[in-house]
Amino acid sequence: MSVNQQAHTGPPYGQPQPGYQGYQQPAYGGQSLPGVPRSQYGAYNGPMPEYQQPVPPQGSLRAPPTSGAPPPVSGASHPSGHLAYSQFDHGDVQNGIPASAAPMQRPPASQPFLPGSGSTPVSQPSAFQQYGPPPASVQQLSNHMAGMTIGTATASAPPPAGLGYGPPTSVPPVSGSFSPPGSGLYTPYSATQGPPPTSVPQGLPVAQPPFPGQTVSTQRLPTQVPGFAPPPPSTGVGPSSYPPTTGAPRPPAMPGPPLPGQTLAGPPSSQPNHVTSPPPPSAMAGLHPGPPMSGLHGPPPPTHPPQPGYQMQQNGSFGQMRGPQPNYGGAYPGTPNYGSPPGPPPPPKRLDPDSIPSPIQVIEDDRSNRGSEPFVTGARGQVPPLVTTNFLVKDQGNASPRYIRCTSYNIPCTSDMAKQSQVPLAAVIKPLATLPPEETLPYLVDHGESGPVRCNRCKAYMCPFMQFIEGGRRFQCCFCSCVTEVPPHYFQHLDHTGKRVDFYDRPELSLGSYEFLATVDYCKNNKFPSPPAFIFMIDVSYNAVKSGLVRLICEELKSLLDYLPREGNMEESAIRVGFVTYNKVLHFYNVKSSLAQPQMMVVSDVADMFVPLLDGFLVNVNESRTVITSLLDQIPEMFADTRETETVFAPVIQAGLEALKAAECAGKLFIFHTSLPIAEAPGKLKNRDDRKLINTDKEKTLFQPQTSFYNNLAKDCVAQGCCVDLFLFPNQYLDVATLGVVPYQTGGSIYKYAYFQLETDQDRFLNDLRRDVQKEVGFDAVMRVRTSTGIRATDFFGAFYMSNTTDVEMAGLDCDKTITVEFKHDDKLSEDSGALLQCALLYTSCAGQRRLRIHNLSLNCCTQLADLYRNCETDTLINYLAKYAYRGVLNSPVKTVRDALINQCAQILACYRKNCASPSSAGQLILPECMKLLPVYLNCVLKSDVLQPGPEVTTDDRAYIRQLVTSMDVAETNVFFYPRLLPLTKADVDSDSLPAAIRNSEERLSKGDIYLLENGLNIFVWVGVSVQQGLIQNLFGVSSFGQISNTLSALPVLENPFSKKVRSIVDMLQGQRSRYMKLIIVKQEDKLEMLFKHFLVEDKSLSGGASYVDFLCHMHKEIRQLLS
Ligand SMILES: [Zn+2]
Repeated sequence: MSVNQQAHTGPPYGQPQPGYQGYQQPAYGGQSLPGVPRSQYGAYNGPMPEYQQPVPPQGSLRAPPTSGAPPPVSGASHPSGHLAYSQFDHGDVQNGIPASAAPMQRPPASQPFLPGSGSTPVSQPSAFQQYGPPPASVQQLSNHMAGMTIGTATASAPPPAGLGYGPPTSVPPVSGSFSPPGSGLYTPYSATQGPPPTSVPQGLPVAQPPFPGQTVSTQRLPTQVPGFAPPPPSTGVGPSSYPPTTGAPRPPAMPGPPLPGQTLAGPPSSQPNHVTSPPPPSAMAGLHPGPPMSGLHGPPPPTHPPQPGYQMQQNGSFGQMRGPQPNYGGAYPGTPNYGSPPGPPPPPKRLDPDSIPSPIQVIEDDRSNRGSEPFVTGARGQVPPLVTTNFLVKDQGNASPRYIRCTSYNIPCTSDMAKQSQVPLAAVIKPLATLPPEETLPYLVDHGESGPVRCNRCKAYMCPFMQFIEGGRRFQCCFCSCVTEVPPHYFQHLDHTGKRVDFYDRPELSLGSYEFLATVDYCKNNKFPSPPAFIFMIDVSYNAVKSGLVRLICEELKSLLDYLPREGNMEESAIRVGFVTYNKVLHFYNVKSSLAQPQMMVVSDVADMFVPLLDGFLVNVNESRTVITSLLDQIPEMFADTRETETVFAPVIQAGLEALKAAECAGKLFIFHTSLPIAEAPGKLKNRDDRKLINTDKEKTLFQPQTSFYNNLAKDCVAQGCCVDLFLFPNQYLDVATLGVVPYQTGGSIYKYAYFQLETDQDRFLNDLRRDVQKEVGFDAVMRVRTSTGIRATDFFGAFYMSNTTDVEMAGLDCDKTITVEFKHDDKLSEDSGALLQCALLYTSCAGQRRLRIHNLSLNCCTQLADLYRNCETDTLINYLAKYAYRGVLNSPVKTVRDALINQCAQILACYRKNCASPSSAGQLILPECMKLLPVYLNCVLKSDVLQPGPEVTTDDRAYIRQLVTSMDVAETNVFFYPRLLPLTKADVDSDSLPAAIRNSEERLSKGDIYLLENGLNIFVWVGVSVQQGLIQNLFGVSSFGQISNTLSALPVLENPFSKKVRSIVDMLQGQRSRYMKLIIVKQEDKLEMLFKHFLVEDKSLSGGASYVDFLCHMHKEIRQLLS
């Protein structure tokens, strides 16, 4: 079975998809095809059957996952699936050992479980114990900034009309202290820094209004650093060339590289090795120095002749200069020392954070500019609205951005250009993404026994970009140019424009996304698959029982089993279920419908796992309901008195795998696990947690599995289509890095509930479980991304397994999983033809139907770098960079990874500065409009728990986050790295809208207000110490701040508008995320506040992460070094 398989040609019989909306013709093509009875083509315009959404049993769930595909054509289900299914339903032997199963020769012990005498149970620490008190060095954000000015953004090229892109952003040349990563986990922030080593920008030909209100918010004197050390040699690209944490003051008038001897006064000047940059001509110190020079490597040499025309344009080819940008514009503020020789440092001025690019502003601007019109995907290379904007998508030939987002929609024609820019070319693909109800699900196309029409050479699937020639008898492949005969049953005439006359009748000719029904050639062993199975595997060791978890799971499953995924309008789910419990041994249950009571079989030889029963293990829920209910009632009782604390883990997966193998089906294991598997068994682990490894060369081992056993197991699981979802409830280290290998490589999910407590965590766990069980999932999936000549997919990030360099294999792929694909040039691209991507996902639906989901996307290609920078998407870029970095920590020291990230982004921005921005002083930081948030977001990635852990972050947390992020889509990484912060007390209780978000900085918080912060995993409600008593009463039902309990896991349900409004906001946010977020109440000045502050990502972090302002200064310095 392969996505690549060549379709055989056979007699056609098309199964039209019911309800292909908008296709009004009564039949395919409208004319009889040779050899094809017309009657085989059914109507193509029926109503779209409503997909039956399973209703969550209770609780506020996100809208139930939809089947990403339309319901199967009636009668299109494959009988062979049912044949395979039925063979396990009609067996006669109860508890018998099937003769065909060799490993089952050993008689299973059918016996009551005897609880072993266990060791002392582990007491449960209270929630959040892992978060210790903050280090003592809680510091102030003292970003003494001086002499910074705001350069005008001088866009060298206008944005494409209609996209709403403004000029590039110029931010003040600033400097600040930046704690080098790797400088120690608890590196205290150094507040001693001088004014920035940069100078006032010069050379702007157009007079800019002074930046209003800029300068000086704070007149604090800088702490004079006695032993001021000059910045390190500007090695330029060296990732290790970190800036000093202190800077010397610099007279604002110094535009260019400093003169020797200006150590204290002028900055780059204080860099002895800046010898390559000529000293600035005195003329350039003037306010109106004349036209900027063309010197692309920093300030121009004095002798460089002025280049006519540069006042307004760069190179004359990039269009007009942009006007000053509100909020960022303004020149030459605070230049009291202008022109004077270096002297004592001027009073430092604190950089106004409002003068640097604001994520909130960018998000708001995009919402107002692009949120009202649908995004129509007809044109090539369109940049979609941001993920934070609500918009509708109309598929007119390219895949929706909900399925594919790219780092850039205009990619360089040559590899040299791509290398020069350092902008990664990547697509973030979510093949089974859930669509809002207003959008149309991909249509299912059935080309009959011959299967989908494909290119003969590259096997690309028929898509809107294929070119039909010779009157429609052949088509030329848009990916490889090979010409392929059109199969007779697929022939259609062309109209005068060369378009097939059935263009609009066929999804695969007119839409960006659609599905093909796969033929048996696309199935394993050339057999149609059986419906998948779900196996629930519950840890019943002491901790699991004691915490009430076992009882909770069993209770929940009784109702949840009614909500297994169904396809289309099927009355019941085709998915069969099975049950296993385990501690040091495994217990299998026979829940065959004919039994009066379930039967347990214990397998204590875990060294060579086998499944002791086939018949009666995997059953239909409705048929076996009584027995299943009885089992779920009995399990908590059976193990209520257990003393067994040890668990196995690998044998549990092996058991599930063997069961699926025996049933010849794919499926998913839901494993509920509590502890490090130290019991004697394959895959046994030891506690190897060692925080002392942080910031050493061995830190990477914390992310690596401690044994290769699980990698091999994962490979076997993928081969069988056995996906593993792992729910962890640890009270201590349990080695997520190792336990997560199989879930990760099989396309599964991991959920972690540290210090699980029933009262506070059950809602979150149950909501996650419900969603996980119900959501749309494909099994036995293989994804291949084809590209047009010139680029090819070279690297992949996500939860999957690859046995070759092109096919991404996933035992399971659900609607939340994302695969990020990187592309590299292997030839030249042309502006005329652009570049094409086609993602083909072969999978088995929850009803056992084999399908191909196809997503196509066309991109523009450019010969001018400015076009690249104008069509980038920073959110997607960050998604890629985070995944790239998070994979890097497996093999490299974390510091190396961070430095490489910084260096790459500095190169991206330096290339823009050098090639696209209007020449101006090196003292100016000029950012491309589309990337003006790159520094702030990059800083969030750099200071994330994986790359720069704080003292409260455990090794398991880091491994967990690392794996989570790797499968996140762009919206998820966006809010994860830059959380959403909402002032609840500003909410309008009479409207449905959210209060306007604010920037993630403590200085934005008022102690008289209540705020909500969410990052996709947690929701914090922060309460200021001076909040009005009435608001506290309304929200928490208590009369004073002091009475608010910070152990609440949900807001009390109170009948007043404020309470209702806040709870509706919380519910709405919960509904938008793929995981149920943990609600944490934080009182100002309370101990938990330290945890909350960790998410105020514009501020300096306790773990040494730089503030936004400081990081921007650092990036600026890096860029200047690259340019000089
Ligand atoms: Zn081809």
